[in-house]
Amino acid sequence: MKPAAAPAIFLDRDGTLMEEVHYCRDPREVRVFSGAVEALGSLAAAGFRLVIVTNQSGIGRGLFTEQDFFAVQNELLRQLAPAVIDATYFCPSAPENPDPRRKPAPGMVLEAVRDLGLDPARSWFVGDKAVDVECGRRAGTRTVLVKTGYGAGVADVLADGVTEDIAAAARFILSQPIPTNPAS
Ligand SMILES: [Mg+2]
Repeated sequence: MKPAAAPAIFLDRDGTLMEEVHYCRDPREVRVFSGAVEALGSLAAAGFRLVIVTNQSGIGRGLFTEQDFFAVQNELLRQLAPAVIDATYFCPSAPENPDPRRKPAPGMVLEAVRDLGLDPARSWFVGDKAVDVECGRRAGTRTVLVKTGYGAGVADVLADGVTEDIAAAARFILSQPIPTNPAS
């Protein structure tokens, strides 16, 4: 018998977990938001898998390399410990190259759903841009817009919740009813 699909929190990176830095390419620029570690810990303890889903067009634009991305990513994971990210998906494409993985397209979320055996209907996408909310909606998750990063400037977005930051997003998600899952 197939194990029941798990719920997940799909997390934008820049402006959601860490301070927005224009094309962050240097691990010394990584600043995790206050409360992020505890927020991720509380979500993991509630049974959510944690998956980062990030557009990194700076690679496709030639502004930094995949190695630079991984150096930044490793520093982020170090600062998030003891919270553990289950997987990270990134899209290196520049916007002028149509790519079904680049947010707002849902490709990276759908990949994670397949790879990790996740249930979009019980999952959430949390991000600071309208493309994050659209990506989650297109993948069939519920969504939270955080007002950190670019989020303060986003209006008229069809998110299920709008919160100050990732810490408040976690409290909001944990306060919401869990939809019944006919598959489980
Ligand atoms: Mg962002």
